Amino acid sequence: MNLILLGPPGAGKGTQAELLQKKLNVPKLSTGDMLRAAVKAGTEIGKLADSVMKAGQLVSDDIMINLIRERILESDCAQGFILDGFPRTTAQAEALDKMLVQMGKPLSLVIELTVNDEILIERIAGRFSCAACGTGYHDVFKPTQVKDTCDICGSHEFIRRKDDNRETVTSRLSAYHAQTAPLLPYYRNKSILRSVDGMAEIKDVTASINKVLGEASK
Ligand code: ADP
Ligand code: AMP
Repeated sequence: MNLILLGPPGAGKGTQAELLQKKLNVPKLSTGDMLRAAVKAGTEIGKLADSVMKAGQLVSDDIMINLIRERILESDCAQGFILDGFPRTTAQAEALDKMLVQMGKPLSLVIELTVNDEILIERIAGRFSCAACGTGYHDVFKPTQVKDTCDICGSHEFIRRKDDNRETVTSRLSAYHAQTAPLLPYYRNKSILRSVDGMAEIKDVTASINKVLGEASK
């Protein structure tokens, strides 16, 4: 299965992709995670992306398209992948279509998570993740089971993203509405878009996604 999870920042794409990759046994490809790793490693791409990410804007299409092309060609994507955070512009979506045709890996489905802006801000403000294994949490909606201890790896170190602050969130939401939302009609026209209520509880969103996947495989 070659899937895209589409939705605004904070919609729950990473949370659901983390669960789906275990269920489907295919990797989640988060372009945000890839860029944060590049920034941390101080690569050329990281240097270019750092200020753009801090401003809540989008990194250039050329960089993103090359980054995802190289990643999809890796052997762990042979049975499929879940895209989280890509594509974010019409140019990226068109380039993705072209490369997937060349690779003989057509898109199976695009699943949109719908969440309104007020809820997104609350979600982003409370988001944190394990510094060791990357598992995502929320202060209120998904706390660790044992205080200050990662449920998955037991680490006691957590991080909050630099761009998860109110000013940057406003720019990120504007970028989503202006540049990414046009992908909804783009995929609807191809009859591969399915929308799921992303405002429900995490487990209920997972159930809705599973239902959509079940219907698609009939
Ligand atoms: P995205 O990858 O779309 O930016 P995340 O998956 O990181 O979003 O989710 C943003 C924050 O909201 C995280 O802290 C996550 O734990 C929390 N979250 C995700 N889905 C839900 C949900 N359905 N209800 C409440 N909180 C959620
Ligand atoms: P995310 O982790 O998906 O919220 O992405 C964090 C930031 O990385 C975004 O605000 C953008 O600056 C950048 N980014 C991630 N994916 C893309 C993409 N596909 N196109 C452009 N910029 C991206």
